[in-house]
Amino acid sequence: MASVALENIQKTYPNGFKAIHGVDVDIQDGEFLVLVGPSGCGKSTLLRMIAGLEPVTEGVMGIGGRKVNKLEPSERDIAMVFQNYALYPHMTVYNNMAYGLKIKGLPKSEIEERVKNAASILELTDEQLTRKPRELSGGQRQRVAMGRAIVRKPSVFLFDEPLSNLDAKLRVQMRMEIKRLQDDLGITSIYVTHDQVEAMTLGHRLMVLNNGEVEQLGTPLELYEHPASLFVAGFIGSPAMNMITSKISSDGKTIHIADDIELALENGGSADHTNRDVILGVRPEHLELASGSDDALPMTVTVVEHLGAETLVHGHFGNDMTDLTIRKSGILQVKAGDILPTKIRQDHIHLFDPTTEKRINL
Ligand code: ATP
Repeated sequence: MASVALENIQKTYPNGFKAIHGVDVDIQDGEFLVLVGPSGCGKSTLLRMIAGLEPVTEGVMGIGGRKVNKLEPSERDIAMVFQNYALYPHMTVYNNMAYGLKIKGLPKSEIEERVKNAASILELTDEQLTRKPRELSGGQRQRVAMGRAIVRKPSVFLFDEPLSNLDAKLRVQMRMEIKRLQDDLGITSIYVTHDQVEAMTLGHRLMVLNNGEVEQLGTPLELYEHPASLFVAGFIGSPAMNMITSKISSDGKTIHIADDIELALENGGSADHTNRDVILGVRPEHLELASGSDDALPMTVTVVEHLGAETLVHGHFGNDMTDLTIRKSGILQVKAGDILPTKIRQDHIHLFDPTTEKRINL
């Protein structure tokens, strides 16, 4: 096991494109860090630099206290699991898992012990070990790819979207297996995904990347409860956070929404935050149906999604038709065209600066 330290890591590709602008993070021994962000934000570039598959343009890359900038991938004591499994089609499952160890020159008995041990952790049967990869399902192939990483007993696991070729049900199952495996083995892991649910459920910490820059680094709940920017607020959480253009009053104690609605601000009154435009964010589960219409946003329902355990109600309010989504547990009997008086839970609002898009803390 090993810690991984990135110090001002930057990447400029030979064509001059700057893909990573300076990333700093200390990943603790045994930690599970997830790199998450939309397509093209630089996740794979960063992971490939840690793996040694892509040279670092600037900064210091450390694994287990050693500077590894100039080391080959094979010298970094890492194992990588790819999206496309990268298995050898002509070899049996056993040989796919054993191959790296044979190259290293490990004794046959030790190879056999490690492969059998990994197969048992991953619930691959003896019979499956004799098959070729094409004779396995997608989920089983992904297990073999993980087995090949495990047998090497690396200090660090690197995962590049390992579940994206699997169907939705299998993804959930494999996600839990990866989590259990990482908990049991305690190997420092860095995992790339663009799926925020995967990121939230797997990571001890998440690094949200946007255009090659770190938007926020923190635990899943820190990001959920205190998103540092509009980008993180919109990216983490599904359905996404509602965003409402609003204004803080001249005494800073209230916030005006859609002209005629006023909300008291819990920590309001600070001279720094008076008479200013803000974007108010509120998660779908923090909107409530009001009994009366006083001080409530009149939401016109457009779409109702009954998910069984909960109901999602989508609609809009106000002249500028601001979108709103409400999440309620259980079954809510509403239909398109209904007007629902909707209240914002004041203790759960988030404020953002419309220009810098950063969080405002009152
Ligand atoms: P995805 O989720 O789609 O895989 P990503 O977040 O992993 O995206 P990267 O593959 O790291 O993104 O790419 C980051 C940026 O760098 C993109 O804008 C991409 O076009 C660019 N890029 C990647 N490889 C190269 C290259 N070899 N030369 C120039 N630009 C590149």
